[in-house]
Parts: sequence; C-alpha cells; structure tokens
Amino acid sequence: MFNVRMEKECGCFKRSGMTSIKTFDNKDEALLEATEWAEEMNDTFCHKHNFNVVEEGSDLIIKVEMN
Ligand SMILES: [Zn+2]
Repeated sequence: MFNVRMEKECGCFKRSGMTSIKTFDNKDEALLEATEWAEEMNDTFCHKHNFNVVEEGSDLIIKVEMN
C-alpha cells in the first residue's frame, strides 16, 4: 500500500474540500497521482503556497511551502 498525503492542510486546502490522504496499490500510480495532485493545487490555489512531492518510505508526502 502506498499513501499519498498532505504534509499539512493549509487554508486553501481546507477550503477546497479535498481529502488529505489517498491510498494506492502500486507505487507508480501513487507517484503519478501525487504529481498531478500537486500540480493541480499549484495551479488552482492561492499561488502563495507551493506544493511538491517528496518520498518518505512507502509514502508520498505533499509538502507545503510558502513562495
Ligand atoms: Zn494557499
């Protein structure tokens, strides 16, 4: 099992109503989804936060940084 999860939920994330964790059977699928998810948030959120994907063991964490 591979989890894709948010490191923390910023205000934009909370307002979006997205779920903060997604689970996949396969790592390639998890990585693809994590990358697309981070891109979507970078495109649609406030642009003050920057999202990127980091691997931690079998999990993919979406880090949140201030631009
Ligand atoms: Zn934001």
